[in-house]
Amino acid sequence: MNYNNFFKEKIKTLKADGNFRIFADLKRKVGKFPKADMYKDDGSIVEVISWCANDYMGMGQNSVVLQAMHKALDECGGGAGGTRNISGTNHYHIELEKLVATWYKRESALTFTSGYTANLAALSSFAKVFQDIVIISDEKNHNSMIEGIKAGRSEKTIFKHNNMEDLERVLKSYPLDKPKLIAFESVYSMDGDIAPIKEICDLADKYQAMTYIDEVHAVGMYGETGSGICERDNVRDRLTIIQGTFAKGVGLVGGFIAGDSEVVECVRSFGNAFIFSTSMPPIIASGCIASVTYLMDHKELRTAHQKQAQKLKDEFKKIGVELLPSVSHIVPVMIRDPFLARKLADELMARNGHYVQPINYPTVAKGEERLRFAPTPLHTDEMIEKLVHDYKLIWDDIC
Ligand SMILES: *Cc1c(COP(=O)(O)O)cnc(C)c1O
Repeated sequence: MNYNNFFKEKIKTLKADGNFRIFADLKRKVGKFPKADMYKDDGSIVEVISWCANDYMGMGQNSVVLQAMHKALDECGGGAGGTRNISGTNHYHIELEKLVATWYKRESALTFTSGYTANLAALSSFAKVFQDIVIISDEKNHNSMIEGIKAGRSEKTIFKHNNMEDLERVLKSYPLDKPKLIAFESVYSMDGDIAPIKEICDLADKYQAMTYIDEVHAVGMYGETGSGICERDNVRDRLTIIQGTFAKGVGLVGGFIAGDSEVVECVRSFGNAFIFSTSMPPIIASGCIASVTYLMDHKELRTAHQKQAQKLKDEFKKIGVELLPSVSHIVPVMIRDPFLARKLADELMARNGHYVQPINYPTVAKGEERLRFAPTPLHTDEMIEKLVHDYKLIWDDIC
């Protein structure tokens, strides 16, 4: 058998369907955010503006954060040195977990090497505590939640996205005394819509279910101190587990959960993706502490973030593009064709140095291909106006 032909065929299909992924080769430049150097195939380097970074607040280059990382590098060296259980718990991890618990006003918190790992470890742990649990999952949940649920091998039911009638229908179909967990996100990052968290918690109370929220696209960005939508909506104490990342609004890498001590202890004890993997480097934990502390104290960054997102939405509306009705900082411009999405992105880059990644299947459903813009507080009004101006010229040219 010629195994290699199978790989070749798969790649050919991806390319034919417009779903072959091409990574932009970038070098981010401290002090120039959101600009970066792009290394092109012909060996040349051009400066581009990134419109699709998940470093939503520019914290990955914040000088306070970088100082904290330099300090920890000089103190502790490069890696963590082990898993959390075997020599890899650094004092910075403990400090960070205390800070996250305080931030979320919850008893306890646990950190992970990524938000993905946090979902994988935490969601799979529930099945080890409750053998007959059913996990009730929003149909638009992120892949890391789906994989976490799968890894637990428990029963699973899907409810229609943010649809409370459908959620109630599912909850009602189980006996009151059967263990249940509702798993959902706050900000859905591809559409920019937000879950009705209070309503979900009310239904959870009514049908005696636990709740698990992924706040990944809200951490650092919503609420008085920036912990997320649960803070904004004043429901932080109602969730069984709040999960988040340090990789997006916080600007670095790593994930976390926060909740009651007993629940967090169980994830610490049963979450294989947590137990069997080396912990995050102390440099990162130290940087996360500085970044979270900074975000807690700088509400004006969140105000500026929302203002620039609204500005971009308004500018796009003026030229009549199809925007999804996002109620968050995410600006999804619908193209509905993978080749056209790729073409528009390529032209924006080639002509004007605007970098935006086309979002294609399987990240979104076929026919829902889009350009997803995420302006930050560091994208100026002039940058936004120029982007939309350039976009219109390209659109008129190729469509
Ligand atoms: C990015 C993302 C994750 C994974 O977080 P990482 O820290 O990047 O691993 C989890 N959930 C959602 C909704 C995400 O968008």
